Amino acid sequence: MSCPSGDVGRNVSTTAFLISECSIIMSKFAEPMSRLIDELKKLPGVGAKSAQRLAFHILRSSDEDADALAAAVRDVKANLRLCSVCNNITDVDPCVYCTSATRNQRLVCVVEEPTNIAAIEKTKHFNGVFHVLHGAISPLHGIGPEQLRISNLITRVDAGNIDEVIVATNPTVEGEATATYLSQQLKRAGVKVTRIAMGIPVGSDIEYTDEITMLKAMEGRRDM
Ligand code: ZN
Repeated sequence: MSCPSGDVGRNVSTTAFLISECSIIMSKFAEPMSRLIDELKKLPGVGAKSAQRLAFHILRSSDEDADALAAAVRDVKANLRLCSVCNNITDVDPCVYCTSATRNQRLVCVVEEPTNIAAIEKTKHFNGVFHVLHGAISPLHGIGPEQLRISNLITRVDAGNIDEVIVATNPTVEGEATATYLSQQLKRAGVKVTRIAMGIPVGSDIEYTDEITMLKAMEGRRDM
């Protein structure tokens, strides 16, 4: 019978322990272990087997490491909040982007999720600020504009402190619907609204590009 734990054999010196670990997995877990596994299973991308592996890893780790993990989880909930200006996740309000004197506060890039900011920052060519919607319009899932954090973007634009809003929502049905809605709402306020270009990935071959991507690339062409 194979052990459900996928890392068996990684460390020969712990074979005896792992065999006993296997026997534990086959049997009912002690209550604290079951509880930890159940909590880990709630994390995105973590199934039952991964949750068991993580739980046993935590069990084997030092008291200091386990305490540090628990403290980090607690701190994330206790000390992080949303920036009142841009809705980015931050420990200071307003966030470091919104208070930066070296960034162009008149240029705002709108993204769906806080994690999207890192993708734009990676380019090292964007010196504006951000606005996080925390989702995209999706009638199928019952998510309308009122469920997104759009109102404080309108407030920012209405205050007259913004020259351009770059809509960098995802190139999906939901992202496009959100971009169209934002464009309608923001243009009314007289601000320039632009959409990030979509098309063929750098380094790829147009021979293998699907027709929708090719169409988007043609539509997004620019003068040279
Ligand atoms: Zn902010």
